[in-house]
Amino acid sequence: QAKAQGKSCYKIFDAQMHAKALIRLNLEHEFCKALERKDFILYYQPIFDINTNHLIGFEALVRWQHPIWGFVPPAEFIPIAEETGLIVLLDNWVLYTACQQLATWQNQHPNLPPLKMSVNLSVPDLRKASLVRDIETILAETGVDGNCLTLEITETMLINNINDTLIVLEQLKTLGIQISIDDFGTGYSSLNYLHRLPADALKIDRSFINQMQAGNRNYQLIKTIITIGNQLGLAVIAEGIETQQQLQWLQELGCEFGQGYLFSPPLSAPKIEALFMNTGCSHISCQLQ
Ligand code: C2E
Ligand code: MG
Ligand code: MG
Ligand code: MG
Repeated sequence: QAKAQGKSCYKIFDAQMHAKALIRLNLEHEFCKALERKDFILYYQPIFDINTNHLIGFEALVRWQHPIWGFVPPAEFIPIAEETGLIVLLDNWVLYTACQQLATWQNQHPNLPPLKMSVNLSVPDLRKASLVRDIETILAETGVDGNCLTLEITETMLINNINDTLIVLEQLKTLGIQISIDDFGTGYSSLNYLHRLPADALKIDRSFINQMQAGNRNYQLIKTIITIGNQLGLAVIAEGIETQQQLQWLQELGCEFGQGYLFSPPLSAPKIEALFMNTGCSHISCQLQ
């Protein structure tokens, strides 16, 4: 009896693995076609100075609109694109498109302090020999100043090959590019590498903000991250701010920047223009209340 059960369990498991492998293969195949077809579009989530309510810039977040499947969430296709290395092609497109969009918005608002653009990178991007050259070309072709481009990397991306990664990051810094540590506190962080990193900012992961309660563990962790950022001269950006209470706590703790549904979800470029970039706004404020 047990043996029979064991066998049928094995079969179910096997069938599930098979189904998963098929979905995966299919996804990989579809992803290649999507790159050619240009199914991808960029959404932009505004980032604010949470003390002055001024719009600082945007994080570019990719969206896949499949002609039959519809919307495919990044959490489903980014990991596969990373494993297959195809992310390199996608991220090059993301970098180009985001910089082009930034140049357009900056030109429309020459009297504002220059808006910034943040783009997420993955491990294969940092391993690409031509990364620095490619970004240099993108900056030259779009006319974007390196100081206005931020690249987001995670701590987990640093654990293998930290020395090679540091060399790449140093080269990117010579172009004026800013480096943010994304999802800070969730990866395999080791505080002893932080001072070696040419980082400019820490992004507090949404999961911390999410579970923040007055004085609880997450509250204390956030407080500590902000202190570390301030001590090391790094800007601190809170992500996933959803409530007025979270915003108030973050302001009290001395966090400078933030993004989240309270201000705005990621939006298509036309929606960003309708909400934030309209009417020669000399002091764009966030749309609170
Ligand atoms: P991330 O860089 O940490 O991006 C923040 C994620 O939190 C985004 O999810 C954003 O839509 C979501 N978010 C922002 N504010 C809120 C909020 O207030 N509440 C909630 N519930 N969620 C919020 P998204 O767009 O699904 O992206 C997921 C992840 O996929 C990103 O995490 C990033 O790691 C990766 N990713 C997205 N676009 C790209 C890309 O172009 N290239 C690469 N390499 N990775 C990307
Ligand atoms: Mg990010
Ligand atoms: Mg993040
Ligand atoms: Mg995150």
